[in-house]
Amino acid sequence: MVHDRPDTQVVVVGAGPVGLLLAGELRLGGARVVVLERRTGPLTESRATTLHARTMEILDSRGLLETIPAPPNDLRGHFAGIPLDLGLPGSHPGQWKVPQAATERLLGDWAAGLGADIRRGHEVRAVTRNAGHVEAEALGPRGPVRIRADHLVACDGEDSTVRRLVGADFPGHDARREMVRADVDGIDVPDRRFERLPDGLAIAARRPDGVTRLMVHPHGAPVRTRTGAPAFAEVSEAWKRVTGEDVSTGVPLWVNAFGDASRQLARYRHGRVLFAGDAAHRQMPIGGQALNLGLQDAFNLGWKLAAEVTGRAHPGLLDTYHDERHAVGARALASIEAQALLLLGGPEVDAVRTLIRELVAHAPVRARLAAAVGGLDVRYPVGGPPHPLLGTRLPVVPLAAAGGAPATSTQVLRAGRGLLLGRGTPPGLGGRTVPVFAPGETGGGEDGGWTLVRPDGHVVLAGAHTDTHQKEFHDALTRWFPAA
Ligand SMILES: Cc1cc2nc3c(=O)[nH]c(=O)nc-3n(C[C@H](O)[C@H](O)[C@H](O)COP(=O)(O)OP(=O)(O)OC[C@H]3O[C@@H](n4cnc5c(N)ncnc54)[C@H](O)[C@@H]3O)c2cc1C
Repeated sequence: MVHDRPDTQVVVVGAGPVGLLLAGELRLGGARVVVLERRTGPLTESRATTLHARTMEILDSRGLLETIPAPPNDLRGHFAGIPLDLGLPGSHPGQWKVPQAATERLLGDWAAGLGADIRRGHEVRAVTRNAGHVEAEALGPRGPVRIRADHLVACDGEDSTVRRLVGADFPGHDARREMVRADVDGIDVPDRRFERLPDGLAIAARRPDGVTRLMVHPHGAPVRTRTGAPAFAEVSEAWKRVTGEDVSTGVPLWVNAFGDASRQLARYRHGRVLFAGDAAHRQMPIGGQALNLGLQDAFNLGWKLAAEVTGRAHPGLLDTYHDERHAVGARALASIEAQALLLLGGPEVDAVRTLIRELVAHAPVRARLAAAVGGLDVRYPVGGPPHPLLGTRLPVVPLAAAGGAPATSTQVLRAGRGLLLGRGTPPGLGGRTVPVFAPGETGGGEDGGWTLVRPDGHVVLAGAHTDTHQKEFHDALTRWFPAA
């Protein structure tokens, strides 16, 4: 029997990290949201363990870092296994070690606290699109459930059911090479950081709890067809072949294989159905970029979709999600693909690796790669008069409110309303509740101009003066800020 449920404004399919961040963002923007998740309980596998600089800024700009112990930080990153110093100006340089299960718990508690309706044990099996709404049908614990919504967002991971149901074009290629890995207890092998040995690539990292993560790729090994996870014997045999070490007596806690597949949806928006995270792009999960890219998709989409479904968005606002994030994703996937070639290639890539190692020694090259890995170099094409800050994310800067306590820009962004930054009499905001702040001691905007920052922290107007830039200010405000 089919149970009819009350309508909602947005259905999110998948309560992985991307779906949960999106659900919180939608609630912050005032939208009603139901999250349908197939799993009955939280994730227990380790999966992605790295949060990069921009993701940490995002979590900070929602007040989430204050709710967890400070995660371990490492400025040592890598590009294709070549050491890369991730130190850059900013509030959260480097990579931050947070197990994916902890990230999901943090985002899930936050989204639920904001009122997101998260329904576990609900597997979406059908999606119907009509002119005025979209309907998801899921199999829940008490039978089939149908939910009608204005929009549906597929955050259902790399094997996205919604992608298949919608028939979305997903160009790219399947894996050509793969690594096998295992989290193993009871072994004692030396740590190896991306060691290229004559017979293949080997990585070993021992965690504080004594468990060692092994990853190995024997040169020339093809992608195997399996019905489930590889057997631990496959990992231990490959490890022996590449390193000569016997780990077969260890206790495998988690065994997994991942390849260098690279695919990206041709369109992130299909009418009332949108895609974010691994559902929108498949890439080799090396260097932690997949999860970070997905979280940054959700952060870009949430406030725009909330404005759309509450009837406050300027026409075209929601389409900027595809325009902005597809371009960022394509660039990241190209970088990951280049790294996969250099990482899993045999002796034929050694000369290119030597060249890159030399180039990385030059400060501008290092900084450029580190900014790309950290997600700090994203500049959206937001239009408006040219300015060095235009389209970039506002770095964390100290601010001063008239008569109020000092704050940082990330603290002010927590309300999800953006920010107007400048001195003097602010321009009219057309009834919108955008917080107005002056730059603090070392903040920007000293030239007397106004800087307008949208809810996701990206600058849409900078150095604008109330007397000469009235039209530009009005255009940026109406295009990017939900109507009152
Ligand atoms: C096995 C594995 C190992 C990984 N290891 C690493 C790693 O070591 N390092 C790294 O950086 N990245 C790793 N990744 C990638 C990283 O985990 C992802 O990039 C990240 O989880 C993407 O988040 P997401 O929310 O887009 O998708 P997911 O985390 O995959 O979440 C999707 C959610 O949708 C749910 N779902 C799926 N279908 C349906 C449906 N029909 N109805 C309802 N719910 C559904 C799933 O249960 C899941 O909870 C790994 C991924 C996998 C699958």
